[in-house]
Amino acid sequence: MRENDFLRFIYDGVPSHPDVPIPVGDDMGAVRLICGPAGEALALLKTDQCLDGVHFDLALHSAAQVGRKAVNRCLSDCAAMACLPAGVMLSVALPREGRGSGEAFAQDLFVACRDAAARFDCPVVGGDTSLWEGRLVIVVSALGKLPPGGRAIRRSGAKVGDTLFVSGALGGSILGRHLDFTPRMELAQRLVRAAGEGLHAMMDLSDGLAADVPRLCAASHVGAEIHTARLPLHEDAWRLAEKDGMPAGLHGLVDGEDYELLFAMDPEAVPAIVNLTQVPVTAIGTVVEAAKGLSLVDAGGGRHRWPRGGWEHQ
Ligand SMILES: [Mg+2]
Repeated sequence: MRENDFLRFIYDGVPSHPDVPIPVGDDMGAVRLICGPAGEALALLKTDQCLDGVHFDLALHSAAQVGRKAVNRCLSDCAAMACLPAGVMLSVALPREGRGSGEAFAQDLFVACRDAAARFDCPVVGGDTSLWEGRLVIVVSALGKLPPGGRAIRRSGAKVGDTLFVSGALGGSILGRHLDFTPRMELAQRLVRAAGEGLHAMMDLSDGLAADVPRLCAASHVGAEIHTARLPLHEDAWRLAEKDGMPAGLHGLVDGEDYELLFAMDPEAVPAIVNLTQVPVTAIGTVVEAAKGLSLVDAGGGRHRWPRGGWEHQ
């Protein structure tokens, strides 16, 4: 089964609802809450699985590493929507035996999760625990809130002519960065404040640029041109290229778990976002009409087929 096909089945199978202003399929779900006579509030919701053998490997990684990763993956989606995490729930299925079993492991896991959330002033507000015969499963669910004057940034707002940006540097996260990254919460908040209505669409890069750009474009009904020479490659992309022989630029395109932000901006708003934080942002391309599809353009202007991939769970 292909993950994208199943997701499409789900998106098509969820009926619209008057209290759900953002359709299923964005980085977080949303529900409009009626808060007494004072008015409305938007609750943003996210749940995220982390599985031993898929997202981490307990033969290699510690309780502290996997707990931190499980929470940060979820909080990266809060950054993607430009909301702040109001609380997280932690649910774990702990192995009865073998790797990940035992009280000390469970305690270390909880402490790592709690501390990762606390870094963003986010309390742990509940959860669930069980023991079973399988491998460790961690499910982190977050409730997001908008700061005063804030707004949720969706995937669906990109417009033809927008400039596409990524934060940070891409590729090679499998060398270790996928366990230890900083959700781009602060950058996202500053982008919203600085760019105002000029910030049109945003998501976080979890499955690789080559898989995630098409998702943002599909949600926005647009196409994109990405300039491969402009991709900010992480030094890990080069290190991995030396090891496996695949070009570093391809690692930057298809490797998953960068947890950086991909966003589309009105070009007129671009000067407002220069040097907002220590995290660099790089213009990597342009939003074009949907009919033009997705293309890669090299430094000489040559056009290349969009690479298959990014990480799609089979
Ligand atoms: Mg996401």
